[in-house]
Amino acid sequence: MMRPRRLGWVVWVGLAGATTLLLLTLRGRLDKAHVVLVYLLLVLGGSAAGGRRLGLLLAGAAFLLFNWFFVPPYGTFAVADPFDWLVLIAFLIVSAVTAQMVHRLQGEAEAARRRADEVDSLAVHAEALREADRLKDALLASVSHDLRTPLTTIKALAHQLWDQGDERALAIVEEADRMNRLVADLLDLSRLKSGAMQVAVELTAVDDLVGAVVQRVSGALSGREFRVSLAEGGTLLVGRFDLVHALHILINLVENAHKYSPAGSPIELAVDVRADHLTFAVSDRGPGIAPAEQERIFEPFYRPPGTPPDVGGSGLGLTIARKLAEAQSGTLAYEPREGGGSRFLLSLPAAELPTAGEFP
Ligand code: ADP
Repeated sequence: MMRPRRLGWVVWVGLAGATTLLLLTLRGRLDKAHVVLVYLLLVLGGSAAGGRRLGLLLAGAAFLLFNWFFVPPYGTFAVADPFDWLVLIAFLIVSAVTAQMVHRLQGEAEAARRRADEVDSLAVHAEALREADRLKDALLASVSHDLRTPLTTIKALAHQLWDQGDERALAIVEEADRMNRLVADLLDLSRLKSGAMQVAVELTAVDDLVGAVVQRVSGALSGREFRVSLAEGGTLLVGRFDLVHALHILINLVENAHKYSPAGSPIELAVDVRADHLTFAVSDRGPGIAPAEQERIFEPFYRPPGTPPDVGGSGLGLTIARKLAEAQSGTLAYEPREGGGSRFLLSLPAAELPTAGEFP
């Protein structure tokens, strides 16, 4: 069986023959320009339908046919009038260029079609990713919720074992607590990502926040020095933020400083007012963080290479802390500390000190 492409070629070559016969019958009444135009149309049609090779084949055939039948002396390839050479050469060039141009245009159209297809499939891909992200968040929320109940039961049973004098109960309680923290972090993260986290921004005294931080971390710091310094007039500073969330962030930063810096070195919390915001700087004299990791530590579960594997955290602390800061129009950033160590800067909106009676 003949392939469709070959069949197409046979049809076009046949068409060239039929055209020549038709033109021959009219030869006496036709000018050479008419003949050339008809042959050019044939080349154009052949190029468009069958591609560059068919176009060039037709151009070659038409050149010979034109010369043989329509350029005097007829029936030979000789050319009597030198001007006829001009017509013949011009015909050959125009038809070859035509075949080439049609080929290029078709190539460009095909490339454009492919690009359009790619753009379409990228859009579909992006939508699928968004959907997967939504599903992941929903799954995260439901799994973390469902894990809490069995954890409560496990802890209750471990306490019973402890009461009966089984020392292994302590390990169970510790591990259950750890899982509880992870589940709580996962829940917080999914709430923050879906916008379901409640944020109560209120006029709050910096003193209340700092006092709560000191009170909450002093036990965990096991006697390590914790220096707090407030900007001038610091006791009167106020801001617009959520006290519970700001406390959560600062406790996390201080606990990190405690986890990642040498036991004897002090940890500092300094509060300052800059333009219209308050900054809370938590600084330590630990190893600091390599420049390449300084942004990545805010990604979920990311821990720089070399982080001790079992320091008790989930790798979500800084991710949640930054999102909590942003949820109350604040920011959380890292900067290397002069003289060595880390400094985390929490920035929250400051507020004017209200007149008497306005304060909650
Ligand atoms: P986790 O502490 O559970 O690993 P975090 O999100 O709180 O998770 O911190 C991410 C990583 O950032 C930590 O694993 C640690 O390598 C690094 N990091 C955080 N705080 C400090 C710090 N004060 N000094 C040095 N490295 C720190």
